[in-house]
Amino acid sequence: MTEAPRFETPITPPARVTGWAGDRATPGGGSELPVFYPATGQQISVLVEDDAASVDVAVSVARRAFDTGPWPGLSTAERIAVLERCGQVIRDNADELARLECAATGLLLRELKERHMARAAYNFRFFADFISQRAGDRYDQTPGYLTTVVREPVGVAALIAPWNAPVALATMKIAAALAFGNTCVLKPSEQTPLALARLVALLQEVLPEGVLTLVNGRGPVTGAALVAHPGVDLVSFTGGTETGRAIMSAAGQRLVPCTMELGGKSANVIFASADAERALDGALLGIFSNNGQQCLAGSRILVERSIYDDFVGRFVDRTQRIRVGDPTLAETELGPLASRPHMTRVLSYVDTAHADGGTLLTGGARRNDLGDGYFVTPTAVSVPSNAARTAQDEIFGPFATFLPFDTAEEAVAIANDTQFGLVSYVWSDHLPTVMTMTERLRSGVVWVNTPMMRELRAPFGGYKNSGVGREGGAACEAFYTEEKTVTLPKIPPPLRRLGDTGG
Ligand code: NAD
Repeated sequence: MTEAPRFETPITPPARVTGWAGDRATPGGGSELPVFYPATGQQISVLVEDDAASVDVAVSVARRAFDTGPWPGLSTAERIAVLERCGQVIRDNADELARLECAATGLLLRELKERHMARAAYNFRFFADFISQRAGDRYDQTPGYLTTVVREPVGVAALIAPWNAPVALATMKIAAALAFGNTCVLKPSEQTPLALARLVALLQEVLPEGVLTLVNGRGPVTGAALVAHPGVDLVSFTGGTETGRAIMSAAGQRLVPCTMELGGKSANVIFASADAERALDGALLGIFSNNGQQCLAGSRILVERSIYDDFVGRFVDRTQRIRVGDPTLAETELGPLASRPHMTRVLSYVDTAHADGGTLLTGGARRNDLGDGYFVTPTAVSVPSNAARTAQDEIFGPFATFLPFDTAEEAVAIANDTQFGLVSYVWSDHLPTVMTMTERLRSGVVWVNTPMMRELRAPFGGYKNSGVGREGGAACEAFYTEEKTVTLPKIPPPLRRLGDTGG
């Protein structure tokens, strides 16, 4: 019997990770939570959870920084300079941040360096550029009067992040909140706190004190205390739909605005008129990149019946050749899933598919030969109808569900038959087909003949249960600012003499 491989952790993380408020660690006060390396299943660190009192410390520090600190009142030029330094800090420390991210998530180290950390740095650069171009509105429709509209920061933003791309997703929120003059309290996922804790420590060196604070811990403990805190003015959340519901209900009690970036079950619609090679490539990337754990995954692959068997056969063949293993190696294409419970849940969908009359096309098993890490074989099933649970539930793993269709009309009906509406993919070189699909698909984003191309100026977010609000340039400006209308007469207005009876 061969011995199971032991994968080296990409970095030795700190033994204990804490939150941060101003010039010191938060008091903690909650449980001690283990952090695991998904490629080995070994515990590599301990997270000190912030209880409600500790959350109060972090929010109070951010509140003071907003109410009495310099940050909200800095000139645009001063704020741009700070944002650019934030981006530079990420570029300078990208290797360490990528290794810490890999250690907690099991995401591919190569991808983390080349894409996630590059995106994280660019998020700051993007919002620095964005605010340099903005000006307020000016109206003069009423003769003799000038009305201007200025945008002001809202206050303290609670930023709650998921585990599937912690730094890349959280920096979008941090950069946007700061660019428009807010202060913020970040709460990473309790599963993946390592890189964000280090990032916050690094950013302290370039940000004014208290502008960015950090709390750690589980959602119902730390996250719920943060959302309920009276010092919080805004909540920006990325995560699961049920969690989003709970957060928005709690925030609604205090009428606190929220953006919700939630789950998806996106259709990847492949027509016979598509460039088959590109569509195949896009379908594989759409479901298996980021270890199969992404909100925008093209997880329902709908293929026109005339090419269905051929396309599925080629998809299965390529899937079986995907290199699964050590996430630190450059040649690895699929790393482990993020946690043991998540792995169990993803694999349980093989039984679910069978129960719904589906067929396992490939994969569907744990890779026991890779030791105690949370590795699974990339998986594809076909199901008899879109009502199957594997076609309706967000599985959030390397798990593709196939369905055939006959007409564009039917493809639209199947694609839209879901509680979600985050993104859609369309593959066709026939313009009328493309136009029909882009007009009729009910999702916040439609990608045509390309997998996953995010344009940061454009809004990103979901229809239906995939979200509320959008992220992106102007959408973030609308969320992270209050509009104030100021009207003044150009010359003293005529007196109206109310109550002046002349006697
Ligand atoms: P999750 O909802 O379990 O947790 C997300 C965050 O919310 C974590 O930090 C968690 O601790 C916190 N949280 C949980 N309960 C809370 C509560 N009651 N109050 C406050 N905070 C609470 O999601 P996850 O499992 O970390 O991430 C996976 C999900 O995120 C998937 O559904 C995926 O589709 C979604 N996601 C969406 C996008 C997008 O842009 N739409 C991007 C990435 C991930």
